[in-house]
Amino acid sequence: MKAVAKTNSGKGFELIDAPTPNPKKGEVLVKIKACSVCGTDVHIYNNDPPWDTRIKTPRIIGHEFTGVVEKIGQGVKRVKVGDTVANESHIYCGNCSQCKAGRPHTCLNIKAVGIDIDGSYAEHIVVPEHVLFKVSPKLPPHIATLHESFGNSVYTVSAGPVKGKTIAVFGLGPTGLFAVAVAKHWGAKKIIAVSGTKEHIDLGKRVGAHVVVDRHNENVVERVKEETNGDGVDVFYEMAGSQGAIEQGLKVLKPGGQATLLGLPPQQVCLMWSKDVVLKDITIRAIYGREIPHTWNLMKKLFTDKKFDISPIVTHKFKLDDFEKAIEVMKSGRSGKVVMFPE
Ligand SMILES: [Zn+2]
Ligand SMILES: [Zn+2]
Repeated sequence: MKAVAKTNSGKGFELIDAPTPNPKKGEVLVKIKACSVCGTDVHIYNNDPPWDTRIKTPRIIGHEFTGVVEKIGQGVKRVKVGDTVANESHIYCGNCSQCKAGRPHTCLNIKAVGIDIDGSYAEHIVVPEHVLFKVSPKLPPHIATLHESFGNSVYTVSAGPVKGKTIAVFGLGPTGLFAVAVAKHWGAKKIIAVSGTKEHIDLGKRVGAHVVVDRHNENVVERVKEETNGDGVDVFYEMAGSQGAIEQGLKVLKPGGQATLLGLPPQQVCLMWSKDVVLKDITIRAIYGREIPHTWNLMKKLFTDKKFDISPIVTHKFKLDDFEKAIEVMKSGRSGKVVMFPE
């Protein structure tokens, strides 16, 4: 089968001809209809740490996909041949203290699709059955493949108050854009997004932000305060993974508010801890992965609601053979979600 893999310890991926894998006990073979590109894949492409040492080559990349079950291994009960599925990227063990406490997304023995096992930039993939979720075959593949990434945002928004609240979203990459769409759908009173890229500012407005602050041309803290009559926001989502966004987000958060953090800053973060955190009596809530199965149930509801639409966030579609173009677009930092199709 055709696949895109990291084949050596240097930069870049290669289109390879790999054997179609065979599902063993508890595993499932899925024929991939669409796979989407994550920022992590770009870091792997660039051979950035920790991926330069973590990934054993050759490794097929990609951890977001949708497809149809083609073959099941011995004992598989969760799905059957012909089912349309999407995937959880976190392969949890089911036996550790976190899994037993109902927190498989923070499993102590976690493995990841497209990192520790072969991934979804391919015509087929084999995964353990418990990472698959049945989805409606009516969902277009370019939307169904988004579950893994979209789930991060759904978890972020679901982890705090939304209805009737004023919410600031820092960072309008795909996860920020998804969060805007979900918060809007769940009845946020006012959504103030912050971005520095024209394409993202336009998309943010399109999916439901009432105001998008251009961080390069405006004083972010002053503008958000103005938009909230000086009160600040009830909740802020940190979707950028940057020191600046965390600092500014905490400054525009009202006392008693909630900071919900999904972004991953690459270095240590320095904050006015007393003034901006403790003395404001705020809640800090960190988000990792998706709650299993809670976030998946929420996504199912959202995707069956005809009034909910995230299709504008998919800005680019490529054939799998054109993976170099897909990575280029992602690197530009100006895209929404980039989706590839193996056929
Ligand atoms: Zn990812
Ligand atoms: Zn576990």
